[in-house]
Amino acid sequence: MCGIAGYIGDRDSADVLVDALSKLEYRGYDSAGIAVFENGTIKVEKCKGRLANLVEKMDSDGKPTGHCGIGHTRWATHGEPSDINSHPHGNKRVTIVHNGIIENYKQLKDFLISEGYSFVSETDTETVAKLLDYYYNGDPMATISKVLSEIKGSYALGIMFRDFPDRIFAVRKDSPLIVGVGDSENFIASDVPAIIHYTRDYYLLEENEIAVVKKDAVRIFDVHGNEIFKKINTADWDVDAAEKGGFEHFMLKEIHEQPTAVKTTITPRITEHMPDFSAEGFDANKLKSYRNIFIIACGTAMHAGMVGKYVIEKIARIPVTVDIASEFRYRNPLIGEGDLMIVISQSGETADTKAALGLAKEAGADTMAIVNVKGSSIAREADMVVYTHAGPEISVASTKAYMVQVSIMYLLAFELAYANGKFTEETCREYTEKLEEMPDIIDEAILLKEKCQFAASKLVNADSLLYIGRGLDYALSMEGSLKLKEISYIHSESYAAGELKHGTISLITDGMPVIAIATQKDLVEKTISNIKEVKARGAFVILVADREVEVEEGVADIVIRLPEADQMLMPMVAAVPLQLIAYYTAVLKGNDVDKPRNLAKSVTVE
Ligand code: GLU
Repeated sequence: MCGIAGYIGDRDSADVLVDALSKLEYRGYDSAGIAVFENGTIKVEKCKGRLANLVEKMDSDGKPTGHCGIGHTRWATHGEPSDINSHPHGNKRVTIVHNGIIENYKQLKDFLISEGYSFVSETDTETVAKLLDYYYNGDPMATISKVLSEIKGSYALGIMFRDFPDRIFAVRKDSPLIVGVGDSENFIASDVPAIIHYTRDYYLLEENEIAVVKKDAVRIFDVHGNEIFKKINTADWDVDAAEKGGFEHFMLKEIHEQPTAVKTTITPRITEHMPDFSAEGFDANKLKSYRNIFIIACGTAMHAGMVGKYVIEKIARIPVTVDIASEFRYRNPLIGEGDLMIVISQSGETADTKAALGLAKEAGADTMAIVNVKGSSIAREADMVVYTHAGPEISVASTKAYMVQVSIMYLLAFELAYANGKFTEETCREYTEKLEEMPDIIDEAILLKEKCQFAASKLVNADSLLYIGRGLDYALSMEGSLKLKEISYIHSESYAAGELKHGTISLITDGMPVIAIATQKDLVEKTISNIKEVKARGAFVILVADREVEVEEGVADIVIRLPEADQMLMPMVAAVPLQLIAYYTAVLKGNDVDKPRNLAKSVTVE
């Protein structure tokens, strides 16, 4: 999950690399480093911590000056975050940056030690650098091909050979990498925001394609040295999307972008107020033929899948299993022909989700990917792809990507219900129209900011809290709880409200916060009874409720009333105050909201 970048052109490469890495820090921020050709030698600057530390270090030590270099921002997998484990790795002859995991590094390292090499870091990456050095025979392409045949695992690599100061080499497998094509300057990067200030044109590298990136040319080869001619992609992302635009944090900005993101995502899939996935190449008849649907994802995307399960089962009456990708893939799942697997991933690179997708394909199931990043690995592997149009999401805690995933879940559910004859055309149109109104309603929900800030002020000193709800409100409470814990570092759990009394209620002590969600009319009375149970045991209750829910005096300490919407679509409304509560709690605690500790956004390792 690190970010890698590379530059060759007329600009000062250290400056470009620092700028590009600043757009990739969401992928990891345990350390940062760059390597630059300076007067024929490779000069490395690196250190533990944020990119800002590296910039500070270079301000005092002097930055390497040159026009060709590679850079890295790390999310440590092998070896603690430290100066020595920071990338780039290598020696004076060959230096690399790496995103991924080399699974057989131990064997390779033992071999290299037996050949007289010594290692300074604990990383798997250093093994690749030394192996490149070991096989280097003056021909970089042959050397890289040889090394690729020996390493196992995932990698995106940026490589510099001292003997070739006019080029960068790049290769990838199971980790993302693009080659940006500019005017007399070229780039490599893990993701589009890193290069979009300089160029919108880029090549997507396929597995084990080797790019030779020079100032005036990019050439791509397969491992046998045959040249490959690829089509150039053009990024349609807004340049400003990767900037904070006056907001204090990306997370707050992205919460505000949700109405537009939903609109941009659903509009191309609606024709005359009816769901229409014909541009994606699938239709109702195909969808209704599936026996079972599996929705597989990780983290927040899995919570979007939970909403999908409740809605698809409720209105389309097709059994849906939701599972965490890392669990699904190791339990010999009962999936096969006639089944549909829907995978959800913002980055389209989530390693566990990708592996689950491969497993479903092998078992003969059809696969559909809901992803935000065009041309990502998951998008390329799935039989059907629905792109969400959230634009780049920089904050590690996902908000707008979740919201657009949920919006696609609804559209698919409506399409399925109609195809199955469970929805008449009229009902389907009615619900689709309601979905089309959601951007405005989400906008209204964002106005609850102050109330949420107040609620957050009651949470800052809590050690632990609970989120509860029933049905769709339970699916939502999972997401609310995850959001809070990932950025505020307060322990929290989500529970099906009716399940509390079977054990968890013993945790309630005087003043313990409980955030209850009550938007589902048919379940509201039962949820209110559960709230009374916790209130009677001293809980401090924050209730997020539909405006019509009757709340007697003394049941809740803070009530956040949601704007009006159909109850089936309420998760899209209620998600907003839950995001805002998490956001303000983290802000009040003084945490680094956009870059919470220990996390990285795009989890490209298993
Ligand atoms: N395995 C490498 C390290 O720990 C790269 C980590 C990554 O891609 O997240 O340094």
